[in-house]
Amino acid sequence: METVIARTQSEVDTNEAVRSAVNALQAGDLVALPTETVYGLAADALNPASVEKIFAVKERPHFDPLIVHVHHKDAIRDVAEIPEEIKKTIVQLIETFWPGPLTLVLPRKPIISDLVTGGLDTVAVRQCDHPVFHRIIRNFSGPVAAPSANLFGRMSPTSAQAVMDQLEGRIPLIVDGGACSRGLESTIVKVEPGPAKPIITVLRPGPITEVELKKFGKVVFAERNEDVENASPEAPGMLENHYAPNKPLRLLTSPEEFSPEEGRRYALLSYRGQPRDGYLDSYEWDHVAVLSPGSGRVAEAGTRFFHVLRELDGMEEIDEIISEPMPDRGVGKAILDKLRKAAVKG
Ligand code: AMP
Ligand code: MG
Repeated sequence: METVIARTQSEVDTNEAVRSAVNALQAGDLVALPTETVYGLAADALNPASVEKIFAVKERPHFDPLIVHVHHKDAIRDVAEIPEEIKKTIVQLIETFWPGPLTLVLPRKPIISDLVTGGLDTVAVRQCDHPVFHRIIRNFSGPVAAPSANLFGRMSPTSAQAVMDQLEGRIPLIVDGGACSRGLESTIVKVEPGPAKPIITVLRPGPITEVELKKFGKVVFAERNEDVENASPEAPGMLENHYAPNKPLRLLTSPEEFSPEEGRRYALLSYRGQPRDGYLDSYEWDHVAVLSPGSGRVAEAGTRFFHVLRELDGMEEIDEIISEPMPDRGVGKAILDKLRKAAVKG
């Protein structure tokens, strides 16, 4: 199969790209689409044969559920139930963060199949904030299932070229909407009634942070996709290699932990490239990549994370990637989560 990249630089190109993408979705084909988080691999969420193609193309196990995208805030009611006891909070979260990188886990409507939810009785839903994605899903006007457009376990793509590198020959169309502005997967939460205020459990950390969510309830972090793990002992959070580059990656907690091997070439993945953090001058690195140069901003580091990691992975003169720890706050929590899952264990 030939994979075509549809550009969206001009209005004429964009119209054509939108038309092609909507046609593909209606025909039951997959199409890779830009979102503000990472590129998504989209299919008609109500067409089981199309959804099945997502699992086949990504080589994704069926127990790993997909996120469903809706074209309008109200369309959440087409795919999910909103229990009365959490309704106020869910409405507040939608009004505050949609369209945007917040995914809500809610009881599913029967229209959403087991295939999409991995057999769970809940569905993960969000409304994406990207102009091109928005036009496509609005014209398609039904829910779209769209996990990240990468092979299972590998790095998430934040550009059309990154999708091409992993999925060329497996899908007919990639819509190029530029680099992803957030660069990390959406924050996933579930909401439950609590004694004093609602409890907002973060199932996956992402661009929407604890500080932002705190206004709406008590925020707790699930231990490694707790929910999904209960449903299946082999859930994604437990798998050794997730978000992984091809090269080995090590995550340090102190500069002393690093013991180089003779003849091996190492790149440092640095948060802000400051000698005072202790990593920059602790070794003669063969290459240094900095996520947020200067005083360091976690949101900027998040946006650039997969892009920079992909660049390091492509460098022939490097054998191994050594990462500084990232600040354990805000978007830094999401970066740390990816690094821990991508890192070589042991
Ligand atoms: P993605 O690969 O970005 O589409 O994200 C899919 C992830 O969303 C899964 O790996 C799960 O971690 C999470 N997820 C999807 N549906 C559910 C659900 N019903 N309950 C809990 N987590 C979910
Ligand atoms: Mg993914």
